[in-house]
Amino acid sequence: MRKYVIMGVPGSGKSSQASWLARDLDLVHISVGDIFRWNVQQHTKMGADVRRIMAGGELVGDDLAEKVTAQRLAEHDWNYGFIVDGFPRNARQAEFFLESYDIDAVIHLDLPDAEVRRRVLARRLCSGCGLDYNLIEGRPRVEGKCDVCGGTLVTREDDTEEALVVRLRDYHEKTDPVLAIFARKEYVLHIDATKDKDEVQQAIREALGLPASKPDPSAQP
Ligand code: AMP
Repeated sequence: MRKYVIMGVPGSGKSSQASWLARDLDLVHISVGDIFRWNVQQHTKMGADVRRIMAGGELVGDDLAEKVTAQRLAEHDWNYGFIVDGFPRNARQAEFFLESYDIDAVIHLDLPDAEVRRRVLARRLCSGCGLDYNLIEGRPRVEGKCDVCGGTLVTREDDTEEALVVRLRDYHEKTDPVLAIFARKEYVLHIDATKDKDEVQQAIREALGLPASKPDPSAQP
């Protein structure tokens, strides 16, 4: 059983690195942001409550974020473990998490703010299957269409210059202290996220003492 948390500024590659690791190790990838985005897309009551907060780049309330995470983990479909992405985001959430779960490692993807802007503004998301694209690293074969499902590629509502300023500010003010909390328990593995996607994945595996991975099967040609 492996239990990991993955952290990093917006655009540091958390989601793709976590999915890759999860796929190979049979872990359940729990992305709190994805759960909220799904609720927005499906027009649920929760979606209506969080939509504007998310679009502005703000964090949703701790009670809700904790509830969503706890409910997802309570499904106990993670026979081989989990990798949590996007939680905890502040000291309160970190305490909540540590009271409820023991974890093996926190993977911290380290990326300077200067690089964040370039990456985030080039990010697109498939509105059909949710696959992430980055127009710097790999364009889709047909512009604006997903290579896998043909869905339309869209920009996340919070991938704007204005929302990015808020997200980065929040990250440094609220999420940096989470790293300090975890670091006191010696959980944190710092990974240089400026490298390309494959190198970052190999560095994660090495830090976790896992064998090297095969090339990412979901990589865009
Ligand atoms: P992400 O995909 O992780 O960047 O999350 C997208 C958005 O979902 C964030 O900007 C927040 O509005 C919200 N969100 C995700 N995780 C949390 C969390 N742990 N606490 C509060 N808000 C969150």
